Amino acid sequence: MASNAIRVAVCIGLLGACRERGASTPPPAADLVVDSDLDAYVANIRTVDNHTHVNSTASNDADADALPLDGLPQFEMPARLKPDNPDWVAGWRAVYGYSHADLSDAHLAELRQTRQRVAKERGDRFPEWVLDKVGTEVMLANRIAMGPGLAPPRFLWVSYVDALMLPLSTKAEAAVTPDRANLSPLEDKLLRRYMNDLQLTMLPGTLDEYLRAVVTATLERHRQGGCVAVKFEAAYLRALDFGEAPVDAAREIYARYVKGGEPPHADYKTLQDFLFRYIAHESGRLGMAVHIHSFEGAGGFYSAAGSDPLLLEPAFNDPALRGTNFVIVHGGGMYAQHAGAMAWKPNVYVDDSAMVLIYSPAKVAGVLRDWLLQHPQKVLFGSDADALGPDIGWEIAAWNGTATGRRALAAALTTMIRNNEVTRERAREIATMVMRGNASKLYSLGLK
Ligand SMILES: [Zn+2]
Repeated sequence: MASNAIRVAVCIGLLGACRERGASTPPPAADLVVDSDLDAYVANIRTVDNHTHVNSTASNDADADALPLDGLPQFEMPARLKPDNPDWVAGWRAVYGYSHADLSDAHLAELRQTRQRVAKERGDRFPEWVLDKVGTEVMLANRIAMGPGLAPPRFLWVSYVDALMLPLSTKAEAAVTPDRANLSPLEDKLLRRYMNDLQLTMLPGTLDEYLRAVVTATLERHRQGGCVAVKFEAAYLRALDFGEAPVDAAREIYARYVKGGEPPHADYKTLQDFLFRYIAHESGRLGMAVHIHSFEGAGGFYSAAGSDPLLLEPAFNDPALRGTNFVIVHGGGMYAQHAGAMAWKPNVYVDDSAMVLIYSPAKVAGVLRDWLLQHPQKVLFGSDADALGPDIGWEIAAWNGTATGRRALAAALTTMIRNNEVTRERAREIATMVMRGNASKLYSLGLK
């Protein structure tokens, strides 16, 4: 096996980029061992990217994110996401043919010209052109609405649904942290937009009417618009402990505060808990999976403790929700083992999005191996591609995240082969499942 393995320095990009960092860069913190055959095999799989924030080709792309990070008070990004991380060079090189190893002003000016030229040349075909560069067959797009350049079958919509859980005044909830003070008004705005889409100007007076005319009607509209999943970013706004709430209590709270006033926290939580489960149930009925953000960020006032996937266990164990498939997006981050534990449930999946951009490939490989030893049919690849700076568009994050996702997966499977945990043939099978097959089944994409 040793002769068949290559040692790969830890970096977010490909081997070439690591080599070119030169002797002046500090030595890598750890090594990955990657079987060269497996590495080549995984590198050639056309992926389904389970989680991205891809931009349309509209000039200001206002329909991108329900809770954009630039809506948060100033905080520092983790090192790998920073615009001056030299690992981005690998993405620039692969996507735009950037021929330099550094980030000097002159070279970046040249890069900006190339990016503008390519965007102009490709027009609305630009997003699809990127997918071909990255080796992505299908990209799931977390967006308020799709837009020019983002059409099925290559781009599939995942809509945001937290706003439907927040019909009452969010003033008191928002006052809890500066982050929430910034984000809550965005949810209020999104709910008004959803109502506007339904030609509604006022919230209905009763919960039952709200469920029918606003919640179900919006979910049906999204499904008709091509949504394959809905997304909760709830962890930015509250803990993920969606308890079981009696409908009578929810009805009473809704009716009491829908015309105004500030619901006490305990009351609003009860109503949100009820609505979360209602939305999850309806999404399952309509054939949409439920994606839930679970990670230790982002934001200076974010609650990592409130993002633990174990908090979701009561909802996952609700027999009424077994017709709904859930995906723990970002694999729970620091709680990856907790996320893996939830994969015992027949309807719970995990993805490695964001991890592939924020963690080292060696760390992602460790997480994947843990998951793959137990529930390989439940693990999905995701990049969390997003525009991260003026020179790092979603396309660069997609390339780097996908390269790391492939490399980390190949490393995890290499270890499993070496430990006689899987055969080489089974390792290839699992690689295809993670990079595309599991997602194809989950979303009924019918990919071969
Ligand atoms: Zn994301």
